[in-house]
Amino acid sequence: MRLWALRGLRSRRDLTGFPRRIDLAPGMTPGRPLDGPAAAAAACPTGALQVEGSASRVALDRCVHCQRCRHGEHAMRWRADIAWSHGDGTPLPRAFHHSIHVRVLDAGDCGACLAELQQLPAPQYSLHRLGIFITPSPRDADVLLVVGPVTRAMRQPLLDTYAAMPAPKRVVAVGACAASGGVFGPSFACAGGVAEVLPVDRTVPGCPPPPLAVLEALLAVMGRSLPRDGEPAP
Ligand code: SF4
Ligand code: SF4
Repeated sequence: MRLWALRGLRSRRDLTGFPRRIDLAPGMTPGRPLDGPAAAAAACPTGALQVEGSASRVALDRCVHCQRCRHGEHAMRWRADIAWSHGDGTPLPRAFHHSIHVRVLDAGDCGACLAELQQLPAPQYSLHRLGIFITPSPRDADVLLVVGPVTRAMRQPLLDTYAAMPAPKRVVAVGACAASGGVFGPSFACAGGVAEVLPVDRTVPGCPPPPLAVLEALLAVMGRSLPRDGEPAP
């Protein structure tokens, strides 16, 4: 075990080079739809593809990565990158200089978004090297990271958790459910996206988003500038 760890540290084979360089090794990202013909929108089950003239525009917050628009006669063009997150367009003032503590809250997730988040402390991603730490206590948290649509049962715990966090604080919504309600809401059982309940600073679409896309969003709320290039998906 010790030998394996030393070998991994020396060769750096088991550690992603992100954020020094964009890491698009196989399996890092499923890619995302970019643009395509208007006819592609008919394949989309969630309304994420909207027709604009002769083209389809992607509302990525609603995309559940079903891949139905990826193949066939009217296929969309895909891009293999991890820079999926977005804010509301206004730059965030830099509030955290060296490290952040993150409180993860499951507001009704199906399990897949949480499974991706659980990869972040693993040697491949090693979020601790970037000064990012997970905390169970909202009193110690700088960032509230929410997965899942806001179910009726979790609405009040979500509000209580946010209220218990000291200022300055940020909210990151992770996954299509947290971004827009996804396939679940808004409905009688849930409010929909986190923005229906709390001010959201950063949204990471995807169903589920890959760990690097979440890492990119966390670095963005820390105010770190990042590479945002990508390349066409295979
Ligand atoms: S991959 Fe996304 S945009 Fe394409 S059909 Fe599925 S939900 Fe719609
Ligand atoms: S975004 Fe997809 S993976 Fe994440 S909680 Fe919703 S359904 Fe599950």
